[in-house]
Formats: sequence, structure tokens, C-alpha cells
Amino acid sequence: QHAIEFENVRKEYGQTVALDGVSFSVEAGTTTVLVGPSGCGKTTTMKLVNRLEDPTDGAVRFEGEDVQNVEKTSLRRSIGYVIQDIGLFDHMTVAENVGTVPRLKGWDEDRIESRVDELLSLMDLPPDQYRENYPRELSGGQRQRVGVARALAADPDLMLMDEPFGALDPITRDNLQDEFLEIQEQINTTILFVTHDIDEALKMGDKIAIYDVGEVVQYDTPENILENP
Ligand code: ADP
Ligand code: ADP
Repeated sequence: QHAIEFENVRKEYGQTVALDGVSFSVEAGTTTVLVGPSGCGKTTTMKLVNRLEDPTDGAVRFEGEDVQNVEKTSLRRSIGYVIQDIGLFDHMTVAENVGTVPRLKGWDEDRIESRVDELLSLMDLPPDQYRENYPRELSGGQRQRVGVARALAADPDLMLMDEPFGALDPITRDNLQDEFLEIQEQINTTILFVTHDIDEALKMGDKIAIYDVGEVVQYDTPENILENP
């Protein structure tokens, strides 16, 4: 069984056709990168998985189940979502931000606290130093790390990462990519990752879906894409 399946998915926004017959499947535990220029349908693809949008036609399946038949809240508790430059709650500390989903799930406070500390350490934010900070007190790179930690906090089956490192300077970005590749080996979560940067795609992906307006024009491993550009 695949973690995610897109079967002939079409998505229209009024007159705009954002996706026109997209089909691909993602193996559990792998990272698939959606790459292509702005406006070609990458973000829309992600939003169809956690039902921020619904398809006009075709089917999107998560763990074998058509997402149209799954309650949105339950879907979003098993799917982490990281987007560019936003998403942290400004009025909450780093620890409160990272603990959001475990708290919604009713974990007890000790378990939440140790999970938060574990994730902050993993993301290279020593908890003793950072757990009580507010997002505005952190750098852009640190905020993105908190965003990733928050999305990982409740052991999601799937992580949707939409240009997670897009707003960062090149050096910070490169560091975070390397760290994330290491973390990926430890967490064993399925990842869908959006970027417009082909180098980032080749670096991060087990599989790469190359988008042209509304379509996936190539879907293959980085090695095969480099051989048959
Ligand atoms: P990408 O992520 O590749 O930049 P998007 O999925 O955001 O592409 O957008 C695909 C197309 O759908 C674009 O033409 C965009 O303008 C359009 N679009 C996206 N979201 C909406 C929306 N909420 N309403 C209308 N059009 C939208
Ligand atoms: P991206 O960085 O993915 O290209 P955009 O800046 O295109 O994102 O879009 C930001 C937000 O605006 C998204 O939530 C998207 O769905 C929405 N959006 C994009 N294009 C349109 C549009 N033409 N009309 C209305 N909403 C749009």
C-alpha cells in the first residue's frame, strides 16, 4: 500500500485549471519533492492531501483511504504541515508552539515536555536556552527549525513541507537541508516537499515530480532525472 496516491486529479479555481490530470504514488517512508516554477500547481497538490482544498475530479488517497472520506481534523493530526516563513503562534513560547499537536491529542504534560526537548535538541536548538523564547526573539532560520519541530511533534505519518527553507539565506538554507537529511533517517516519516529549486530537489528527494503548468511531466529518482534531463 502506498502512503499517498494521486489518481487523475484535476483542480480548478474558477476559470483557472491548477491541476490537469495528475497521477503519482508515494512509497511510505520516502521523500518526494515536487519541483517546478511558481504557479504550476505544487502548493495545490499539497493542499489536496490535508484537505485545505478539495479536488474537482479524480482521487487523492492517504494510506489507502480517499481523503474525501476522512475527517479533516483527524487527517491534520496525522499530517504535519510546514510552510514558508509563517505558521508559528507569536503569542506562544517555542515550547508551547512545538507542543501544540501533542496537547490537542491529550498527551500528559511530562510526555509533551520530554518530546519538546527531544525535538528542540534534534533541531539544534538547545532546549534550556530556547524553550521559553517567543518566535520574535529568534532568527529566521531558528524559527523555521521550530516550525519543523512543531510539525514533527506528534509523530506524523506524513510531513507536507512547502518551501520550508525558501525564505532563508543560502548558507542557513544549506545547513538546514543537511540537518534535515540526517533527521529524515531517524524519523522514518513519509515526506512531500515543495521547492522551485532543482538543486534542492535533487539533494532532498528519493523521488522527484517535475511540474509544468498543471501537470507532472517527469516522475523519477534524482539519478534517472540527471541521466535523462
Ligand atoms: P505553485 O505552488 O506551483 O506556485 P499553486 O498551486 O499555488 O502553484 O497555484 C497553481 C495555480 O492556481 C496558479 O495559477 C494560482 O494562481 C492558482 N491558484 C492557487 N490558489 C488559488 C486560489 N485559492 N484561488 C484561485 N486561484 C488559485
Ligand atoms: P506559492 O508561494 O505557493 O506560489 P502564492 O503566493 O501563489 O503561493 O499563494 C499564496 C496563497 O494565495 C495560497 O494560499 C494560494 O492558494 C492563494 N492564491 C494563489 N493564487 C491565488 C489566486 N489567483 N487567487 C486567490 N488566491 C490565490
